[in-house]
Amino acid sequence: MGKQIIRLVLLGSTGSIGTQTLDVVERLRASGRPIDVIALAAGGNSRLLSEQINAFRPKVASIRSETDAAALRVAHPTTEILCGEDAPRTLAQLPNVDVVVNALVGAAGLIPTIAAIESDRTVALANKESLVIGGSLVREALRRGGRLLPIDSEHSALLQCLQAGTRSDVRRVLITASGGPFLHRTLDDLRTVTPEDALAHPTWSMGPRITVDSATMVNKAFEVVEAHYLYDAPYEQISVVVHPQSIVHSMVEYTDGSVIAQLATHDMRIPIQYALTFPDRTATALPRLDFDEIGSLAFRAHDPNRYPAFRVVLDAARAGGSALAAINAADEVLVDRFLEGAIPFLGIAAGLRQILSAWTREWQSSDGRLSLERLLTVDRWARQEAGYLHLDPG
Ligand code: NAD
Ligand code: MG
Repeated sequence: MGKQIIRLVLLGSTGSIGTQTLDVVERLRASGRPIDVIALAAGGNSRLLSEQINAFRPKVASIRSETDAAALRVAHPTTEILCGEDAPRTLAQLPNVDVVVNALVGAAGLIPTIAAIESDRTVALANKESLVIGGSLVREALRRGGRLLPIDSEHSALLQCLQAGTRSDVRRVLITASGGPFLHRTLDDLRTVTPEDALAHPTWSMGPRITVDSATMVNKAFEVVEAHYLYDAPYEQISVVVHPQSIVHSMVEYTDGSVIAQLATHDMRIPIQYALTFPDRTATALPRLDFDEIGSLAFRAHDPNRYPAFRVVLDAARAGGSALAAINAADEVLVDRFLEGAIPFLGIAAGLRQILSAWTREWQSSDGRLSLERLLTVDRWARQEAGYLHLDPG
């Protein structure tokens, strides 16, 4: 197959997905697939970014703080170093680039995603918040050019399952969920769980925000929204099924009763590589599934009552407009407050519910035609509100 060079920009290079993307780049290069890393963007961790600049020699790199940028300029005179909140957008629009991997966390990912699509790039998207907050704007931009490929394992699975049939023959999209670290706890037990408990995910090793979002199942609800926008699936067609082993990464049921599933080890480098080489596949030396060892696959019903935050997100999705921008922003703040020990675990769900009610009172009727400015205004409002919410340890 084509061995043309892939020119890549990586946003969020120092994070969990970012570092795994660079590992995939090295593996692909070793297997004869040339990849040119044009630019790297990071928020913090300038030491790791500095090592990455040495290893991958990008033309441009960026870091959030001016002080870090100044030090990097001294250490790397042949790389242009940018800084500030706007740097990821600039990198997303650099000329002569094929793929922009968006592995930023949070609302910071939205503007770079839209900018890259508007510059007609392929976006390999880990930053699901882009679709959660601005799904309709991203879809609108895609009508004019660019391309969007998922990195999220469930959506990479769905992309593969959807190639087995035609869109009109899809009956159901089934997103699998590990159930997170609290699968076996009662709602009552959840009152006392600590940040350490929430950060101990049973199957995946990820950044702190998505790990807590997996425990509340906000992440799974975000993935329902992500599937809705990526594959134009109505919410009624998308179900969640709990599968603690994280081996089946998602499934598509067709009208004739056939269900197509994608299975793999739980290693994000597999969906990352698929997004980089799509539609090609490339042999890898990563660990493989061993069915003799697996023995059996287990599934169970998803109980939304155990996951109140899951419900709030889907209520916000149905409310439409800027509701999910409010919910995402509030969740970013509430997760931080939980990790700092300032609010209890169940305070995240309770806080999200309060923010959705406040959004309904203050913003719903005036939402009108959504613009990026509107989404960013609501995002700022919700951050402030969520910072002040008084959430008792119940
Ligand atoms: P992470 O916290 O490990 O990494 C985030 C990266 O973004 C870091 O490099 C950080 O420095 C950078 N960053 C954050 N804010 C920034 C800003 N304002 N400007 C520039 N850089 C900034 O997060 P992660 O776990 O790698 O997740 C990244 C995205 O991928 C999230 O949207 C997450 O939901 C999604 N995702 C992650 C996984 C996973 O296994 N980690 C799986 C599926 C989807
Ligand atoms: Mg996922």
